[in-house]
Amino acid sequence: MLNPGDHIFSIRAGILYYHHGIYVGDDMVIHLMAAGMKKSSSSLCPKCGYNRDRDSRIVKTCLDCFLDGNSLHIFEYGMPCK
Ligand SMILES: [Zn+2]
Repeated sequence: MLNPGDHIFSIRAGILYYHHGIYVGDDMVIHLMAAGMKKSSSSLCPKCGYNRDRDSRIVKTCLDCFLDGNSLHIFEYGMPCK
């Protein structure tokens, strides 16, 4: 379904935030995790080892961490970008 280099995003329900990333293959995504998006859980992801409590920075995580339970969309050029 996804190809390396695909521009993907998820819509964070409730706060109307579009979370963008670039799929790099092997179920991994490079994206910017913003501070303030922390969840109460401090556990490391068993799949990619990502600690979701870390501060804002560009990270490479698995697709599950990128989506964080939200829906996956593939960015089509020409769409409005927030
Ligand atoms: Zn992960």
